[in-house]
Amino acid sequence: MTTATHMKLFVCAILLLPQLLVAQGRVGGGANGAATLLVPTRVWDGTNTQPHEGWAVLVRGTQITAVGPRASINAPPDATTIDLPNTTLLPGLIEAHSHLLLHPYNETVWNDQVLHEPEALRVARAVNHAKATLMAGFTTVRDLGTEGAGYADVGLKMAINQGIIPGPRMFVVTKAIVVTGEYAPKGFTTEYADQIPQGAEEADGVDGISKVVRSQIKHGADWIKVYADYGWGPNGEVRPGFTEDELKLIVNIANSSGRQVAAHATTEEGMRRAILAGVRTIEHGDNGTPAVFKLMKEHGTCLVPTIAAGESQLEQRGAYTMGDSLPISLRNKQASFKAALDAGVTICSGSDVGVFSHGDEAKELQLMVQFGMKPLDALVAATSADANMLGMEDRIGLVKAGLLADLIAVAGDPTIDIAAVRNVKFVMKNGVVYRQ
Ligand SMILES: [Zn+2]
Repeated sequence: MTTATHMKLFVCAILLLPQLLVAQGRVGGGANGAATLLVPTRVWDGTNTQPHEGWAVLVRGTQITAVGPRASINAPPDATTIDLPNTTLLPGLIEAHSHLLLHPYNETVWNDQVLHEPEALRVARAVNHAKATLMAGFTTVRDLGTEGAGYADVGLKMAINQGIIPGPRMFVVTKAIVVTGEYAPKGFTTEYADQIPQGAEEADGVDGISKVVRSQIKHGADWIKVYADYGWGPNGEVRPGFTEDELKLIVNIANSSGRQVAAHATTEEGMRRAILAGVRTIEHGDNGTPAVFKLMKEHGTCLVPTIAAGESQLEQRGAYTMGDSLPISLRNKQASFKAALDAGVTICSGSDVGVFSHGDEAKELQLMVQFGMKPLDALVAATSADANMLGMEDRIGLVKAGLLADLIAVAGDPTIDIAAVRNVKFVMKNGVVYRQ
């Protein structure tokens, strides 16, 4: 081998590295690995079609190699058969808005988690959270901010990818970005306000923003998260933070590096600026109007409604139990969610889990159905729609030959009764069985 060839191979390896990282899986046997035939009662493939009774799925190594009526699948003689009676097999669920480094606010309020919990304590909890998430059938998460725990999400993702701890494949944003004074904790004496640790990284103006976006990328961010608005008005009301030009700069820098931007936004103006700047997703969107949802539809911006976040905080205060008549804040949320559905906005499923218990992510699917979505559409939101938003549509989110074997089985049929997603019987990620 010549030095030149050596150099070429070396360069190729470097070029391929990001792709391996995106795949985020242990490098398994691929097409030559052990074969497993999964035999559920039915298969729902992640598309907008009904489940297929009597179908089976063949997995080899890390990949799905065949899907169809059981009799049509030629399993090799050495294949292991896993019978999954009375279940529906579906793509591993995707959580588009998690905080693995937070735990429920009725255990410890957010301010105290940020100010009083050492990073090692938070990481120790996050290890448990990652396992609970995977066992609940969520094989991928987009984790939208460590909320004061620095770059701990990057190391957590590495621990999962290296097989040290069980957990979902992760897309991480590290610290998230806010303008100076926008975020929290706040309310300290003015003499010390500049020294109080914040739940996100402050950045302002062209130089400051450019530096922070690139620095987060340098430290391992797969996505960039910004707060387009927050409660920093004169009386604590929610007002936009970044100017439209600042948001455009963030999106330009992120996009030119091959990354996308998620924007926290609850006001019409915050949403409008973020949509026009070209963010990929709007998080929450609580006060979205028909006009702003029309703009989202036109720009192809996805909505991650996080209904469970508001619902859980009411539940934690004893002000609401799932199934009761809706309090005013949830009635308003339902109205804006319906306006988004009516406008034809792409809904991606994400719950803001961390506000409530990890392992309870499926609550978001139940709430989306309660708020007017068909069960099949809610399932699409948490599988193929989320995969498409992540740019992972050729790897995850569907039960399809050639894709990674991220598969779960739940008792019953979630396309008829969405609550079935809470009854997980089987979890496979990257061809590895984690729950059976
Ligand atoms: Zn969040």
